[in-house]
Amino acid sequence: MMSASCLEADLPTETLPAARSLVTAGVRRYSFALPSEETSVRVAIFGTKAYDRRFLESANRAFGHELRFFEARLDPAMASLAAGYPAVCVFVNDLVDAAVLAELAKGGTRIVALRCAGYNNVDLRAAERHGIAVVRVPAYSPHAVSEFTVGLMLTLDRQIHRAWARVRENNFALDGLIGRNLHERTVGVVGTGRIGALVARALALGFGCTVLAADLEPDAGLEQIGVRYLPLDALLASVDIVTLHCPLTQDTRHLINREVLGRARDGLMVVNTSRGALIDTAALIDALKCRKLGGVALDVYEQEGDLFFEDLSSEIVQDDIFQRLLTFPNVIVTGHQAFLTEEALSAIAQTTLQSLADAEAGRPLAHRIGAELLRPGR
Ligand code: NAD
Repeated sequence: MMSASCLEADLPTETLPAARSLVTAGVRRYSFALPSEETSVRVAIFGTKAYDRRFLESANRAFGHELRFFEARLDPAMASLAAGYPAVCVFVNDLVDAAVLAELAKGGTRIVALRCAGYNNVDLRAAERHGIAVVRVPAYSPHAVSEFTVGLMLTLDRQIHRAWARVRENNFALDGLIGRNLHERTVGVVGTGRIGALVARALALGFGCTVLAADLEPDAGLEQIGVRYLPLDALLASVDIVTLHCPLTQDTRHLINREVLGRARDGLMVVNTSRGALIDTAALIDALKCRKLGGVALDVYEQEGDLFFEDLSSEIVQDDIFQRLLTFPNVIVTGHQAFLTEEALSAIAQTTLQSLADAEAGRPLAHRIGAELLRPGR
């Protein structure tokens, strides 16, 4: 393990006091103690939008960190902007790969705070090698995402998106808008953690659906309300609707692929508010074209990094797969919006700034994630 002085050797002089890694009894602890009595941390915040600023600045009144907002997403070309910042804050589509982490370490960064739950965009092993702690916001508001998921399911099933467009044209005809009741339908929930469990409860208890689930660790509380766990293949062969709530890992990439879709029930509806790459989008399009699928609702897309969170309404979008997806009448796409509630944004800001304060004070980091989370099945 590197000593504190060894870490310091690589740092620009101005960041030395601000980025001290203390190694105590084999446990690496992070301290950003500043030279004076100040307690604030300098934070470079990437990929910021007006709403991020609003909620972070508001929560920061209680912390007094020095926040520097960058609109640019973090990637190898932008990483040098963080030089001299002991803390870097990123979102879902910022790239925190080995090259970015090497640059951040060179500039004195000692902690990366994800203002989200998923961490598939971070090379955790590289972070560990560089002695950079990674923290996230594991549960800012599972209700925000679960409610949006049920909203997408209802919108797609009852064709609310098409009805809305028709009425704006004074077209009040109902032909083509026949839906199905959710009541007594069979829905599969893949991943019954914080978000998936809420979706399962809403569907089972609120709508009277039969809920089947797939997870590595079944939830006994859900089983008590009648949720039945099955292997993914068996689940997909038995459900009318499947909704994805597991994390994106090496094991779950393209969990929904050509073979799996081939074995699914005809007319299956697929809902994904988790991570885009859980689905092989090309296979999804083929299944839509041959009417194997009854509908698709996505809040996430595997190549969303080039599209989402930006206004591209005057641009020519080059992603032909994404553009094809938008042509289907039974497909709804939203731009990674499921988390976007007042409550979630407040909680994200509060937890992120608290983690940075804890790091600065040398306290244990409650929401730290490490390379051990990369073991198969997580
Ligand atoms: P969580 O960690 O509480 O739950 C994830 C569950 O998935 C766990 O129960 C885990 O055992 C299970 N799982 C892992 N691998 C699996 C596999 N191979 N098959 C089946 N189940 C598996 O996470 P959460 O808070 O419920 O969030 C779920 C996902 O939602 C996150 O990973 C994140 O990617 C996504 N998310 C999206 C948004 C959004 O705005 N669209 C917001 C927050 C989170």
